[in-house]
Amino acid sequence: MKITKVRCHVLLDPKVEVGATSSAQDDLVVEVETDEGITGVGESDINAWIGRACIESPGTHTMDVGLGKAILGLDPTDPPSVWDRVYVKTAMTGRRGALIHALGALDMALWDIAGKAKGVPTWQLLGEKVENPGQPYASLLPQDATFDAFLASLVRQTVEAKKIGFTAAKLETLICGPYATMGMDESDERMIEIIAAVREAVGPNFTLMVDVGYAWNDVRRAREVIETWVDYNILFVETPLWSDDIDGYAELARTSPIPIAAGEWLATHYEFRELVERGCLHVLQPDVGRVGGLTEARRVCQLAAAHDLTVVPHSWKTGIGVAATTQLAMVTPQMPFFEMIPRQFADSELRRDLLTVQPEMTPDGLAVPTLPGLGIELNREAMEKFEVTAAKFT
Ligand SMILES: [Mg+2]
Repeated sequence: MKITKVRCHVLLDPKVEVGATSSAQDDLVVEVETDEGITGVGESDINAWIGRACIESPGTHTMDVGLGKAILGLDPTDPPSVWDRVYVKTAMTGRRGALIHALGALDMALWDIAGKAKGVPTWQLLGEKVENPGQPYASLLPQDATFDAFLASLVRQTVEAKKIGFTAAKLETLICGPYATMGMDESDERMIEIIAAVREAVGPNFTLMVDVGYAWNDVRRAREVIETWVDYNILFVETPLWSDDIDGYAELARTSPIPIAAGEWLATHYEFRELVERGCLHVLQPDVGRVGGLTEARRVCQLAAAHDLTVVPHSWKTGIGVAATTQLAMVTPQMPFFEMIPRQFADSELRRDLLTVQPEMTPDGLAVPTLPGLGIELNREAMEKFEVTAAKFT
């Protein structure tokens, strides 16, 4: 089988707000076509226009071609060998960052094709099924502009998530710092009010995680605040420090009373390897698209296994990324949870309506995927509605 064409779709939520701190508003979806009529679908959490440029750009150097051109003619049923070849063919502009994020969307599509070609769900090609695969946790970020409303929404959403069937939730306590929601600018000391209120509402038998969105630029301050949370049984604290503060992460991971998680922006397992070898993290959070697709995400899982660390993937886009992450969960024993935004709380129409078939949470948890490939179906009408043309958005 050969790859014959790549089609990029830049999608936009109709209610887009330019300037919002939200990656739920747009999406880069790719469709990879083959000479045997099988098409694969993938996505990545990246500036969709930049991602498309990484794929569609031409080039004049054998090691600096566009991704789309680099994968033409290759066999899609062996994604790791395609990945390794394309990594070299795009190395001058690529290797990290945007180009790897875009390669992630293509790699996801290749794993979709590989599963469809064999008539099996993709996880069967990724490894041995684990006995009790990890389950999605509800990732909760209400869009409220005042602290009181935000706290009340988070309590309400966590209780609702528990009713839907989730056994774990992550509180995005984004009330200060670069990721502050809706322009909030509260003291970091108030995060504990949210954590305490939610813990009180859901009781002790429910897993809680906390994402502070790079709130601190000082290890001592981060530890002081985190230390006040020890009684609330928090599984991990996500992205406490700026992504490049490797020394800070190493020190915090050594001394924090609550495990430290990060990695949502990283590209390739090489970037994770550096953090792991420096002892920066207890929990690795690759985003399947951004890290370079299922091929690279699986390598991150292998790295975690070798160092006895936990993986809890980031997944903040649509059901396409969630479906890919679900496939990986089936074969990864060190992955207790992975991220999912309950569609009930999604403000973005794009996120709610893009697919007609996708992983769905039930009171018994998420079912083991059985459909060939990633197990998703695009909603063509919705695609047409969301697809960006120059007339709609520039
Ligand atoms: Mg995060």
